[in-house]
This record gives sequence, C-alpha cells and structure tokens, in this order.
Amino acid sequence: MKKEHFKFGTKTIHAGVEPDPATGAIMTPIYQTSTYVQEKVGEHKGYAYSRSLNPTRDALEKALAALENATYGACFGSGLAAIDCVLKMLKPGDEVITSNDLYGGSYRIFTGVFKQFGIRFHFVDMNELKNVEEKINSNTKLIWTETPTNPIMNIVDIKALSKIAQNADVLLAVDNTFATPYLQRPMDLGADLVMHSVTKYLGGHSDVVMGALVTSKKAVADEIYRIQNSSGAVPGPMDAFLVLRGLKTLHLRMQRHSENGARIAHFLQDHPKVKNVYWPGFENHPGHAIAKKQMSDFGGMISFSLQENNAEAAHRVMEKFEVFSLAESLGGVESLTCHPATMTHAAIPAKEREAVGVVDSLIRLSVGVEDVDDLLQDISQALA
Ligand SMILES: *Cc1c(COP(=O)(O)O)cnc(C)c1O
Repeated sequence: MKKEHFKFGTKTIHAGVEPDPATGAIMTPIYQTSTYVQEKVGEHKGYAYSRSLNPTRDALEKALAALENATYGACFGSGLAAIDCVLKMLKPGDEVITSNDLYGGSYRIFTGVFKQFGIRFHFVDMNELKNVEEKINSNTKLIWTETPTNPIMNIVDIKALSKIAQNADVLLAVDNTFATPYLQRPMDLGADLVMHSVTKYLGGHSDVVMGALVTSKKAVADEIYRIQNSSGAVPGPMDAFLVLRGLKTLHLRMQRHSENGARIAHFLQDHPKVKNVYWPGFENHPGHAIAKKQMSDFGGMISFSLQENNAEAAHRVMEKFEVFSLAESLGGVESLTCHPATMTHAAIPAKEREAVGVVDSLIRLSVGVEDVDDLLQDISQALA
C-alpha cells in the first residue's frame, strides 16, 4: 500500500518518515549538524549544508506536504518567516488582495515591511467574494486568505475563491493555521499554496515556533526553495524533531479539540452572562453552510462576548480562570484564553475593531484537550 493512499490518521504517523538508513532507528534522528563530509570535491550523499537541506527537516517537510495532499513542503523559523517567503516571490508594482479580517502579524508584515518595497495590498471583506473580483487587475499576483478567521471565526469559501483566482491566473494562498489539514485541506479545494504557523496545532505542545508552506506547483516550489535557501529563515533539527513527534497525534488531538469545543460553545450559548458566541458549528453562524462543506469538524477556537460589555468585565472573568491560562498563542494541548481588544488586536483602532465584532468584552478561548468537565466547571466558576 502506497503512503499517499493512507487515510489521514495513518498519514500523521507514517507520512514523510522512513527508518533511518544508517541505523534503522524508527524515529527520525535529530541530525544536529551544520555540514556533511564530502568523499571528493562535489561528491556527497545529497546533503551539503544544513541551511539548504537537513535530514530531520526534510522528513518534516515531506510529512507536512503529505498531510495537506501537496507535493512539496518547506519549513521556516516561524509562521511569519513562511509568509515573508511568499511575499518575496513578488516584485515592486505587484498587487495582493487579502482579507480585512486577518491575523495581526500578517497585517503587520504586509503593511509594515513589504509595502515599502512597492507591493500594493488591498484589504477586502471576503464574506462577499465579489469584493475580491472588483480588485483584480493585471498587476494582481496573489490572493491571501485565512479561514476560520481570528478571533470572530468568519468563514471564507475556499473553492469559490480558487475559481476566481484561477480565472484571473493569480496564486491563491490559504493560511490554514486555525483549521489544520485534519479539519480542512485547501489544496483539495483549489488553493495553490498553504501556509501554517506550525507553532500552533501542528506542533501542538506549545514548545516550538515554526512555519511551513506547501504547494503542488513545481515552479512555485522552486521559488520557495530558492528563497528559503537564499534568505535562510530555516528552523533547526531539534525543532523539526519536536514537530514530527507532535504530528503523530494530530488527528487524536484535533478530534478532542473539536469535541471539547462543541461542548463549550453550546454551554456558553446558554449562559445568561454571555452575549454572542462565535463558533462556526452553530447553524445560525453566517458561514456555517460553507464550514460544513469545507471542514470535517469545527475545531476548538471559540470567542464570546459578555452582556456587560467592557474590558474590565472581561478581565475579571479571565483572571478567575484556573484551568485556562492567560496567554497569546493557541493550538496547544492546554487551554488558553486571551483578550483580543487589549492583546492580539490592540493595534487596531477601537472603531474598526468593534465594526468587525472585536468588542471590549470579547474573550477568545483556545480549547485544549483536557477533560471537558474540568473546562466547563472552570468557565462556570469564572463567569459566576
Ligand atoms: C500565529 C499565527 C501566525 C504567525 O505564526 P508565527 O509562528 O507566530 O510566526 C500566522 N497566522 C495565524 C493564523 C496565526 O495564528
């Protein structure tokens, strides 16, 4: 049986990894080496220098490509370094159409770094895809999207967006960090490129910062590897090993994140002190029908606002949590909470923030894989 025919839960354990050719070790060794001895000048075993290629990173890159049903994978020192690589494929004068509801760091690298090199960014509401079509012109080279979005959990229709991109001969890149390939595989829906903050669910244990890109287009992969090697934002072999290990339980973790998420979303919805709950599993969520089509489940990211809509009320609740930890980041085994208005989205003016639903009392949860009864009890006592 060929590995590419494996089902997802088998791929998470077997894709990309082979017994070590030198020793038969079943776990990919941590090749903690910068260089490789050459038998003769120019004659080596495929590895010349670890910025260009390292066996531990190589195994992880293959595993990530396989999980996303892509051909090529590349890992970077962070999610933002992966985004940086994509943007370096562009030239001054090129235009990018992206969402107005975007991870804050993506917004920052677009406007704070690449704008000054002559790349133009259009931020549109991707709930209406005609907004994307309206911005396409002969300079458009890239459409960049993210779904579900942070922290309001809006859903973008990847398949419909990929048709628009194909018709215009523009690359479509999807930040698949929130969903992971367990819940959603953008390549199967027509995306050209998938990006991950591996830091989050793929690593899954809050112990690594890393990014990744995957694609099936040879020309795009060649560019990615050229920039990966030229700019050098590569992760080390120890981190690659930790993520290889984390991946082996991705399907188990995501299943539990989704089960716990569903229980908590419903609990919050019925709670008298809670106003709105943002979770794409609800039938009245505006993106529910598309989420049901393009995702296999709804994951563990939930945001909710309080009836008492001010930051102090939100802070009071968050300080009472005993199991949920107050921290940036998401996607680890442990439950985390954050306050978008003063943490992740503090840089956005209050009026703009509130227009997209990020009100002062909004609390974001990254629901972990703990026993759900303890999580429900924790939320219940914190809200009381
Ligand atoms: C965290 C995150 C990033 C950035 O990744 P880093 O690994 O922190 O550089 C990009 N997109 C999304 C959706 C994220 O959550």
